[in-house]
Amino acid sequence: MLSLTPKEISDRTGLTINPAKTCQPIGAMYAALGIHRCLPHSHGSQGCCAYHRSHLTRHYKEPIMASTSSFTEGAAVFGGASNLRQAITNIFHIYNPDVIAVHTTCLSETIGDDLTSIILKARDEGLVPEGKWVIHCHTPSYAGSHVTGFSNMTTGMVKYFAESGNRTQEQINLIPGYVEPSDIREIKRLLTEMDLPAVVFPDTSDVLDAPMQEATVSGKKACLYPSGGVKIKDLQSMGSSRTTLALGPFASENAAIELENRTETPARILDLPIGIAATDRFIQALLETAEVLEPPASIADDRGRMVDIMIDMQQYFFDRKVAIYGDPDQVISLTEFAVSLGMKPVYVLTGTPGKRFDARIKRILKDVVPAARIKSAGDLFLLHQWIKNEPVDLMIGNTYGKYIARAEDIPLVRYGFPILDRVGHSYFPTVGYRGGMRLLEKILDALLDRRDRDDPEERFELVL
Ligand code: SF4
Repeated sequence: MLSLTPKEISDRTGLTINPAKTCQPIGAMYAALGIHRCLPHSHGSQGCCAYHRSHLTRHYKEPIMASTSSFTEGAAVFGGASNLRQAITNIFHIYNPDVIAVHTTCLSETIGDDLTSIILKARDEGLVPEGKWVIHCHTPSYAGSHVTGFSNMTTGMVKYFAESGNRTQEQINLIPGYVEPSDIREIKRLLTEMDLPAVVFPDTSDVLDAPMQEATVSGKKACLYPSGGVKIKDLQSMGSSRTTLALGPFASENAAIELENRTETPARILDLPIGIAATDRFIQALLETAEVLEPPASIADDRGRMVDIMIDMQQYFFDRKVAIYGDPDQVISLTEFAVSLGMKPVYVLTGTPGKRFDARIKRILKDVVPAARIKSAGDLFLLHQWIKNEPVDLMIGNTYGKYIARAEDIPLVRYGFPILDRVGHSYFPTVGYRGGMRLLEKILDALLDRRDRDDPEERFELVL
């Protein structure tokens, strides 16, 4: 399918081919689903909303609820204010959420709809019932990526809900970044183990991985909204927390800084805890926050097990060339993890813009793969060209890489967002030591499955 991708790399400035990202509102919609009883609302045409919902549904294999301002030609010419006002009225009347989280689209951004004024006016006119909320963020999709959209909606939560407090609370804030619901569940488990009460936002655990329930229970209608998601009262209390730990600078930093500026809650930005070193730093941050010297034995044991597995597997990982692509926060931690396994990340690419990505990856690779090719705001066409010029042993990234993997006959470990052609991935964490062990198994399985496939009969071994 991609056999015509040329080897020769030419400079491209205005053209993206096979993007390594999706559009901003998808991330905003995902973040909004992490508020309890929240209905994400797409301020644009029905097509955008349908695409964003279906993309999330294809990844999570769950129905994604969201509403739309249903722009037609009239809204495109005269603006979407009346559409949004009508939508707010209908949504509270029919679906009765606690929060409507509005994000914009390319069209409403181009028109220049002033959402702050529209929402204020709707509130003044009594369209927003007492105790209910309409929040918003801007997500023009001709800039940034779904990670930017996630960041913008998370920052929007701070702008609308944060109240200054007197920092007497024992709790901390934790922004988990653009990770799976299972990852958030694992992060919350670690917080509980460390005895650290926390406001975790956004929290999509028990929203996008909620247990299957009957449509009716004892004659009572099942609730439209899942049990998960951060509660509004908790969001309102985040200005009283001792500190904010933000995981993943691209997805979480802006919200943490916004909160710090508004409420003087000190922000600490960390990498996503993927892999041994990043998880060590996360646990160390939790120890310092909890003001204890040693982690609980269960966490220390998990680390010990992970190190043991890494040592057992090291012979298979050593010197393997790997291409890593996807969302910047994940790719940064994955690259560091690959290096700690003895692998050589020779190509590292994200579709999300941000020069600090290049600088960070360069720092990670400077002693091990100084000639590595690194690119932010890149695309999969470029990644394919790199691979065509010099192949790799393994690719790690989202589903879109499968075309390259097939064209070049390279094993692919599916990781990140979106994964559209597998089921179950969102139920198993890859953060922390436990998640790291699963990731190790996935990577090694891909390498050894390939070896089993390729070995000649005389070298095809039962025991590897
Ligand atoms: S890129 Fe813009 S127009 Fe296309 S789906 Fe996303 S928001 Fe809508």
